[in-house]
Amino acid sequence: MQSTSQSPRIPQAVILGAGYAGLSVAKSIHRRAGSGIDVVLVDRSPDHVLRTELYQVDEIAAASADRRRWAVPMAEVLDGRKTRFVQGLVTGIDLSSKTVRLESETVPFDYLVICLGSVPSYFGIPGAKELGQEVYSLGGAERLAARLLEVERAAAKAPGTPRPRVVVVGGGSTGTEVAAEIATADWKQIADPAAPLPQVVLLTGPMPFLQGFPDPLIRHSRKLLEGAGVEVRENTPVVRVDAGVLTLKDGSTVAFDLCVWCAGVEAPPVVAQLPVEHGHGKRVKVSSNLELPQYPGVFAVGDVIEYANPGSGVLVPSTAQAALAGAPVAGYNVVARHLGKRMKRFSYHERGVIISLGLGKGVGRAGPVTLWGRPAYVLKSLVEAEYSLAVERG
Ligand SMILES: Cc1cc2nc3c(=O)[nH]c(=O)nc-3n(C[C@H](O)[C@H](O)[C@H](O)COP(=O)(O)OP(=O)(O)OC[C@H]3O[C@@H](n4cnc5c(N)ncnc54)[C@H](O)[C@@H]3O)c2cc1C
Repeated sequence: MQSTSQSPRIPQAVILGAGYAGLSVAKSIHRRAGSGIDVVLVDRSPDHVLRTELYQVDEIAAASADRRRWAVPMAEVLDGRKTRFVQGLVTGIDLSSKTVRLESETVPFDYLVICLGSVPSYFGIPGAKELGQEVYSLGGAERLAARLLEVERAAAKAPGTPRPRVVVVGGGSTGTEVAAEIATADWKQIADPAAPLPQVVLLTGPMPFLQGFPDPLIRHSRKLLEGAGVEVRENTPVVRVDAGVLTLKDGSTVAFDLCVWCAGVEAPPVVAQLPVEHGHGKRVKVSSNLELPQYPGVFAVGDVIEYANPGSGVLVPSTAQAALAGAPVAGYNVVARHLGKRMKRFSYHERGVIISLGLGKGVGRAGPVTLWGRPAYVLKSLVEAEYSLAVERG
């Protein structure tokens, strides 16, 4: 005899992106919904990438074959019994038919959380994408590390020629950390005993150097950078990149052996194409519960969103700290939406900012406390460890 009773279908929450935001959202939904919602996590990479640590390009060069310090296999950070991981590139999101297109399959969703992070912004500057090396992805940081090794080894074989020049474009925290790391690395140990120290030039564009940091920290960072041999040139927007030469807005040129592009980030194309309201860099605008206003049940968190903090109206930054703060709210709200309960509002309180300046030094602000030198660097290392633990634990 055939049974006529059918068990009710379990709704499916699909999370796009297994970075800081996506992994934390997955764990948050499980904690709250148990087996009441199936969670599917999609990422193009089989690893969770520790993106906040990619400024360590010298260490990536030294470690070249061992990427495990920056890329943790998904199986190690996911509880496989609870989350179904699908490795695939998201090529389209159809909000009306509630489906996500991957290269080789279509995944339907009842609830969707978009956590696809960000990609470098090139602002339409000719040559920037083709000739600038980016550090916003592990592949990019690995290519930069390989190019640094090439440039240093070539210089080691040509004694008497000028030191290679590395020009870093972008004076925010990423550009500053990368410039400091390259300038203070032990290239003789990493590349070749005869390798010279590269000349490192940091160009800031329309945004001032380390915009948003307190003035004393900016002054101290500049002193440390210059002490490490980095030449900081402010208000020097790049308008064109050709092989070996940058053209600045005032018409002057800067020659380079290696150009590192750290000029900021924007939403990935698949997010930029969504038929919803977009903000700066095509980030999607979300309501206070982190949902897309026209699409109940579709949420977004992390670098993909533009969200003004309630009360202050200040935009939440594109940082791992903000992604990890938003993720539990989005996870909670997916379950609340499913159960028809009241949702939470996202309000972001920055705990502080810290950057590494090479040689075990850094600068930062944690609440009202300003930190310099070794203590700042130690705190930075602790925060990085905390970010990795946060995604493992959720
Ligand atoms: C060098 C560097 C240093 C940084 N330092 C700090 C710091 O000290 N503190 C801080 O708070 N923040 C820092 N940040 C910023 C921080 O890394 C980001 O804000 C954070 O990673 C955003 O988290 P997310 O989950 O939104 O995106 P991500 O962590 O980037 O995750 C996005 C995920 O989506 C996946 N993905 C993207 N597109 C697709 C697609 N089409 N299909 C399938 N999968 C896709 C990616 O593979 C990735 O796993 C730093 C960034 C860089 C580059």
